[in-house]
Amino acid sequence: MGIDTENQEIENSIREIAKKLLSENQVDVIIGYAEGTIPLSSTPIFIRKEEDVNKLIWNNLCYINLANYLVPLMPQLCDSEGNALKIGIVAKGCVGRAVNHLAVEKQVDLEKVKMIGIRCNGIVNRSKINLEIGEKEILEVSISGNDIIVKGKDWEKKFPYDQYINDLCKVCKVKSPSASNETCVGECEEIESIHDEFADVIDFESKSSEEKWNYIKEALEPCTLCYSCRQACPLCYCNLCFVDQNLPVWFGKTAELPDIIVFHLIRAFHLAGRCVACGACSSVCPVGIDLNMITRKLEKIVKDRYDFTSGLNAETLPPMMDFKMEDTEEFMLEED
Ligand code: SF4
Ligand code: SF4
Ligand code: SF4
Repeated sequence: MGIDTENQEIENSIREIAKKLLSENQVDVIIGYAEGTIPLSSTPIFIRKEEDVNKLIWNNLCYINLANYLVPLMPQLCDSEGNALKIGIVAKGCVGRAVNHLAVEKQVDLEKVKMIGIRCNGIVNRSKINLEIGEKEILEVSISGNDIIVKGKDWEKKFPYDQYINDLCKVCKVKSPSASNETCVGECEEIESIHDEFADVIDFESKSSEEKWNYIKEALEPCTLCYSCRQACPLCYCNLCFVDQNLPVWFGKTAELPDIIVFHLIRAFHLAGRCVACGACSSVCPVGIDLNMITRKLEKIVKDRYDFTSGLNAETLPPMMDFKMEDTEEFMLEED
């Protein structure tokens, strides 16, 4: 089956379930994806009426992690008296992980949420395509069979889908939300634990300390500290982020590399054991920085040390919220 056919089937199932949930008053509002206003994008949409469910779409540009809209509770998700509405949310695997993890962190009340589970078939790497197209203006993007078709004025280019999806999607082991509770309807999976070889991190780990440092420096150098990555991240929900603190100022905000590195390393530590590998941060970066190497390396460390994968259920406390006497502490002595 071609990717375009798969997308159509997923989209039909989202619309059908959304209609049922709204008509049976199981939810008051559905958060999903709609066509983007510019090519190579999609946009979040809040649907309240059955007759609007056909505005919900699924395609391989649905890169936003919709769980981001659950926290903080938005005015659109409350009734006129400020009470929380019952929410349906279109959930690919990493959205499901984020919803579960937010529930563990007591940011989401699962009694008020229904996940419309879908089996994600991957997200297009926008930066890779933008880079290859260069300065030409993209006017239209579509999927035909197993190709991504990008069109401009008087030109058209074809990209094989399997080579132009996010690296994270190639190694993803949680394509549908976990069916660990009653919250998920639609396509959900029983996932107790996952085996991840972290094939994408092995090459980086084989580098020397100097090579790793050079890799990180080179990758982060173009960063403009716009903080779009933080804004897109469902786990970056702090009322006051450390970068916005000015009493005291924790670090400088110049475009100099040391300031850039401090932002990314501190943010990465804040995401350790919490990141759900959705890739939304990389998808929205205006200068095409791929942050996956940092977030995946931290995911691997947490898996190796604590056998923990974020968001597989809504009960297990993540390592940074928990403490056991037998926790290893050898990392304090590591040099590399
Ligand atoms: S750090 Fe990036 S990949 Fe991880 S949860 Fe946040 S947006 Fe997703
Ligand atoms: S970077 Fe850290 S402090 Fe800032 S929003 Fe994310 S988790 Fe909170
Ligand atoms: S989105 Fe990109 S440019 Fe903006 S702060 Fe994040 S890494 Fe830097």
